[in-house]
Amino acid sequence: MERWAAVVGVGGLGCPAAEVLAPAGVPLRLIDDDVVERSNLHRQTLFAEGDVGVAKVEAARRALRSRFGVAAEAVRTHLVPENAVDLLAGASVIVEGTDTLAVKFLASDVARTLGIPVVHGACVGWHGTVLPVLPGRSACYRCVFEDLPDDEMTNCAIAGVYGPLTSVLGALMAADALRLREGDDATAGHLARYDGWSQSFRSTALARRRGCPCTP
Ligand SMILES: [Zn+2]
Repeated sequence: MERWAAVVGVGGLGCPAAEVLAPAGVPLRLIDDDVVERSNLHRQTLFAEGDVGVAKVEAARRALRSRFGVAAEAVRTHLVPENAVDLLAGASVIVEGTDTLAVKFLASDVARTLGIPVVHGACVGWHGTVLPVLPGRSACYRCVFEDLPDDEMTNCAIAGVYGPLTSVLGALMAADALRLREGDDATAGHLARYDGWSQSFRSTALARRRGCPCTP
C-alpha cells in the first residue's frame, strides 16, 4: 500500500478518523483485537446492529468498502512490543486512538524509533485531547506523560464517554494526520483539549521535555 496510515484502535476515535481518511484517499491498516459490542454503537460510527460480535477491524473494513469503495487492511491483534515495529513500519502516519496507556506509550516509542508522525487521541467523560507528534521536531507523548502511572487511571471503559465527543476528536485526529503526512507541522507538538460540556477548545504548544527519549 502506498503512503498508508495505521489506525491503532478502531473504536470511538478510530472509526471517525477512518471515515475521514479513507475517502480522502489514504490507504488504511486497521489494528484492533476487540469485537463490536452493542454498547459501542452510539459512538463507534462504522458499526451497525448486525456487527455485534464481529471483530471491529473486519466490520470496519466492510463498512469502508461499502460506504466509500475503499479497501482497508484488517489486522486483528493488540499492538504489543512483539509486533509493533512489524505492523507500523512503512506507515506514512500513525493514528492512535486506544484507551490503553501501554499502547499509547508503545505507539509513541515506535513512532520515534521509526521516525513516523503519530497522532494520539484520548477522551473520557466530557473531555478529549489530541496530540500530533512529528518525531525529532516536536514534543512527544512521553514529554507530557513521562511513563505509565503506578495507580489505575480513569479511562473510557471505567468512566464512560459522552458519545458525540469521539466524533469531534476523531475528525480532528484525521485532520492532523492528513497535515502531518503532507509535511505540515503547524500543529505538531500542540496539545488540543476539547471540553464537550462547556464547548471550549484550547490548543497549547508543548516544549520538548529535557530527559525525554525524544530530546537529543
Ligand atoms: Zn518527548
